[in-house]
Amino acid sequence: MQGLVIKSTGSWYQVFAEDGNTYSCRIKGKFRIKGIQTTNPIAVGDQVDFELEPNADTGVIHKLHDRKNYIIRKSINLSKQSQIIAANLDQAFLIVTLASPRTSLGFIDRFLVVAEAYDIPTSLIFNKLDLYNEDGLAILADYKSIYENIGYPCYEVSALEGTNIAQIEGLLKDQTTLFSGHSGVGKSSLINAILPDFALKTGEVSEWSDKGQHTTTFAEMHQLPFGGYLIDTPGIRELGIVDIEKEELSHFFVEMRERLNQCRFNNCRHINEPGCAVIEAVEAGEIEPSRYDSYQSIYFGNDTRA
Ligand code: GDP
Ligand code: ZN
Repeated sequence: MQGLVIKSTGSWYQVFAEDGNTYSCRIKGKFRIKGIQTTNPIAVGDQVDFELEPNADTGVIHKLHDRKNYIIRKSINLSKQSQIIAANLDQAFLIVTLASPRTSLGFIDRFLVVAEAYDIPTSLIFNKLDLYNEDGLAILADYKSIYENIGYPCYEVSALEGTNIAQIEGLLKDQTTLFSGHSGVGKSSLINAILPDFALKTGEVSEWSDKGQHTTTFAEMHQLPFGGYLIDTPGIRELGIVDIEKEELSHFFVEMRERLNQCRFNNCRHINEPGCAVIEAVEAGEIEPSRYDSYQSIYFGNDTRA
């Protein structure tokens, strides 16, 4: 039988099967991504084939279907291992706030680099709209213009007051969407606003991560009543920049990518080279200084984790 993995807890996988039932399944055999060591071979969003075990309502997964894409993060305590967070995503929503807490531009840019590297279209969802005074709204306009100008759709919502939730639901319909954002931005509140029956416990995960403890967390997939799936990433603060070589970093900054063939040197690092089309565009005000700052921080590996 074929099914969709909707939850994983390490050794067991919940599989929503084509017969409409959900089965607990284990894995038989090895499933590897070429060249990457992972702690979990199968993740939510994966399509798998499994067989029911005799006299039991559990199953054994024996085949993993090809993935359209997947997103991974480096494990915190196992140096070379990575964890697959989710597979077969149509889009990602990065939830962002400008107050309590304020999401830094660097955090957004690191997320966008990862999303570009994995080819996942991303929108920015600015939450807590109800909190912003005049100054906050001015910052919101700045943030939005930075990202809308380079092609990332931006939306404003208030999970608390229900503002523009219907618009978000329209974007989610019939899509598989990854929800991400650092703790406190209102990810759980937003999911609760979209899935009122769902009653996610807000605030629970942030308590854990604030103590700096490493808890193994797994993404979870929720079926949307109006069609589509939402993938929640509890406790996942950020997707690490995994397997991106310095030389290819500029390809994942969309506004740099289109200028790369105009640099004088074809091995240009876009740091201090003469005739660099990227630096010229920054100086001409065509590339946002904050985006170029993020490029440099990631390039030199001193990206402070905000
Ligand atoms: P998560 O860590 O991203 O899942 O964030 P939570 O959903 O737990 O929310 C963190 C805090 O922000 C809670 O105290 C929420 O009540 C609050 N919050 C969430 N959304 C909003 C919003 O739209 N407006 C305001 N004012 N507070 C919000
Ligand atoms: Zn250059």
